[in-house]
Amino acid sequence: RAEDTVQNNWAFFAPDLDTKAWERLELEARLSRALERQEFHLVYQPIVDLASHRMIGVEALLRWAHPELGPVSPGVFIPLLEETGMIVAVGQWVLQEACQQLRAWQDAGVGPLDLSINLSPRQFADRQLESILEGALRESGVGPGQIRLEITESLFLRDLPEASEILSRLNDRGFRLALDDFGTGFSALNYLRRLPFHSLKIDRSFLADIPRVVEDTALVRGIIHLADTLRIRTVAEGVERSEQAEFLRWLGCPEAQGFGFSPPVSAEDISRLAWQGGFLSLAPE
Ligand code: C2E
Ligand code: MG
Ligand code: MG
Ligand code: MG
Repeated sequence: RAEDTVQNNWAFFAPDLDTKAWERLELEARLSRALERQEFHLVYQPIVDLASHRMIGVEALLRWAHPELGPVSPGVFIPLLEETGMIVAVGQWVLQEACQQLRAWQDAGVGPLDLSINLSPRQFADRQLESILEGALRESGVGPGQIRLEITESLFLRDLPEASEILSRLNDRGFRLALDDFGTGFSALNYLRRLPFHSLKIDRSFLADIPRVVEDTALVRGIIHLADTLRIRTVAEGVERSEQAEFLRWLGCPEAQGFGFSPPVSAEDISRLAWQGGFLSLAPE
């Protein structure tokens, strides 16, 4: 009977698996042409100073709008870009585009804004990473001091010594390093101690239920205190409620980002917001 069930299940699931595999192949094929077809664009999510609620920076986030499929979720296409290695070429485009946008804002008197850019582990495996970064600076004419390179702990699961060396050189060059999704990976404490991080982004999964859930609150308090001791700035991710923002501020967290302040928006919207003073208020519950 057990055999029966397995077979039945298999018969039931097999067509579904086929569809998934097929969809994936088709998405991959479409993705591989997306760059040359200019189907990618960037949106920017404000990062605010929790004391003043003013925008002090933005995070560049990649979007893919396929002419037929419409917008494809980053949760779907970014893992595909990573698995296939296409993230290296697309990531280069992201760096160039974001740096040019920062320059455009500077020229228009918007800011000063810090610009956060996500880097995937695959980009670190690419020998060209540093020259690509230099190229993006040269072509746009911006300096490294306003650029925060966001990396996740998954980078260190591969080859820590190599990644550490690159990170140290990027830090020496004047880039700022941010540890993204903090708390979701493994033994990050070790990296925090050894690497020159400027900021640490607390993953939103820890913040969703504060201050209601005592355990989460204790963890967040601990992370902020730890970062403070190491002179690393904390950025709270995914802040949606004013209660969260107020509590985080009270805990001493200097910066936050989340739908409560603003979702990711166009570069023009960022300019407009900055012209209006850059204040972002959270609706009280
Ligand atoms: P991330 O770097 O942690 O970016 C923050 C994500 O949280 C963004 O999702 C943002 O839209 C979302 N978010 C911000 N505030 C809130 C909130 O209040 N509530 C909720 N529920 N979500 C919020 P997005 O844009 O879908 O990006 C997902 C991930 O894809 C990013 O996570 C990042 O890891 C990756 N990614 C995005 N753009 C790039 C890129 O240019 N290069 C690379 N390598 N990865 C990228
Ligand atoms: Mg990020
Ligand atoms: Mg993040
Ligand atoms: Mg996150």
